[in-house]
Amino acid sequence: MSHAYAHVLTKFGEPLRDRKFPLPVPERGEILLRLEVSGVCGSDVHQWQGLDPRVPLPLILGHEGVGRVVATGGEVRDVQSAMVTPGDRLAFNRGVSCMACRTCLVLRQPALCPHRWVYGITRSCEHPPHLVGCYSTHVLLASNVQTLCLDEALSPVVAVTAGCSGATAAHCFEEVRPEFGSRVVIQGPGPIGAYCAAFAKASGAEVIVVVGGTPSRLEACLELGATHVINRRETDAAERLEEILELTGGEGADVVYEAAGVQEAVAEGLKWCRAGGAYVSCGVAEPQGGLEIDFFHDIARKNVRLQGIWVSDMRHLVEAVRLVEAQPQTFEKLVDGRFPFADAEKALQAVADREVGKAVLMHDDPTGGAK
Ligand SMILES: [Zn+2]
Ligand SMILES: [Zn+2]
Repeated sequence: MSHAYAHVLTKFGEPLRDRKFPLPVPERGEILLRLEVSGVCGSDVHQWQGLDPRVPLPLILGHEGVGRVVATGGEVRDVQSAMVTPGDRLAFNRGVSCMACRTCLVLRQPALCPHRWVYGITRSCEHPPHLVGCYSTHVLLASNVQTLCLDEALSPVVAVTAGCSGATAAHCFEEVRPEFGSRVVIQGPGPIGAYCAAFAKASGAEVIVVVGGTPSRLEACLELGATHVINRRETDAAERLEEILELTGGEGADVVYEAAGVQEAVAEGLKWCRAGGAYVSCGVAEPQGGLEIDFFHDIARKNVRLQGIWVSDMRHLVEAVRLVEAQPQTFEKLVDGRFPFADAEKALQAVADREVGKAVLMHDDPTGGAK
């Protein structure tokens, strides 16, 4: 193959255009990756629709990808000092921080680096090296991209979910880790919520309640660690509050994690926190206007810690990969929409319509993309 083929967003809300780009020869420290699986994230839909203010056009969408190394520019090592060689299967941190500024080095929060850029979101494909998004046969990883060589036994379909949803959930649990025996509630049974259920279980939480509207996804959360689920379509707010109080000894949850993606969930979820508890929000990923909350009763009077979460760092990706390695079959079930690479738009639409919880694009899929 002498070219890379990509689906390019040229106008918001319109069909993606197919374009080909010459395959670059990696310069010093760079890696050319042939993708095996590209993840379709809920954020991709927002970017496609023009709801994400960070997006320049034209853009190769896609910040989630796992693939095999085609070539490297000289000697390159991953974050665990393993030599990266052609043929290796690789995951990478979608965000590229400068690792030289005060935020990166003094505050040690590279995810918040003011110079951070993100594959498939913040850089146009108009200029070389072009291949900076995962809805493409290839990506070129810059010399400062953080990479992780993956075990051959781990399916790339599972690994790709760790890169964004898994890493973001890991970030939540780094900020607020439930104590052993805790009672935890998770809003949203999508990929991030499912990872939160698995991290809650791994942290030793005793009661793990997931609230959501899709029975099959709630079922998947039960397999990954949830002890109880509540279908929000079959209950009203008063019933949900009553059930959560009942499941948490009348006190409310020690920690509520929001992975629902809509800010209205925050106003409701704050009422589920116990006095002295914490509320962690990682699902709201684009501007949604203002939100009315009962600040006195739900935050101040209860001494509740309110924690926002923005994206993730490399250590979170590593943690998420370790988590899925422990139970790959269960995480495989999270991916309920497998589309051939050519059908990127169908996949986006399926995610937009909430027909699937987690969609991926399969490159060279021998099954022709049968779900
Ligand atoms: Zn994502
Ligand atoms: Zn920085």
